[in-house]
Amino acid sequence: MRIWSKELTFSTKRHREVLDITGEVLAAVRDSGIENGILLVQLPHATAALVLNEVESGLMQDLLDKLEDFAPMRGGYHHDRIDDNAHAHLKSAFIGSSRVLPIVEGRVVRGTWQNFLVIEEDGPRTRRLVIFVMGE
Ligand code: ZN
Repeated sequence: MRIWSKELTFSTKRHREVLDITGEVLAAVRDSGIENGILLVQLPHATAALVLNEVESGLMQDLLDKLEDFAPMRGGYHHDRIDDNAHAHLKSAFIGSSRVLPIVEGRVVRGTWQNFLVIEEDGPRTRRLVIFVMGE
């Protein structure tokens, strides 16, 4: 069994946005040379989230809108006494920041509409992404 990992850095452009990172993740899996195993994608941040869903501009806006219903900015949170981003922490905490998928015969097993989407909730800033592949 082999273990392979890579860390990517990217910049977000807006305070809140959805970014498609599918191409980068799939390229990294190809680079790993691992044909059968497990892919772990981890966003090491507490104010952004990682989901698997469709790249469609309307749906990406719906995601942001629905998250704003769930935890609106300046919602009177305790954390906002020391920082102004409690809404972003809450969204990240409830959605999560990592995903695990199988790799079978060189392909990441995912649904047709399951793209890797980063939800930025406290940008713009530089973000890191850890891609970890284990298998053979
Ligand atoms: Zn904070």
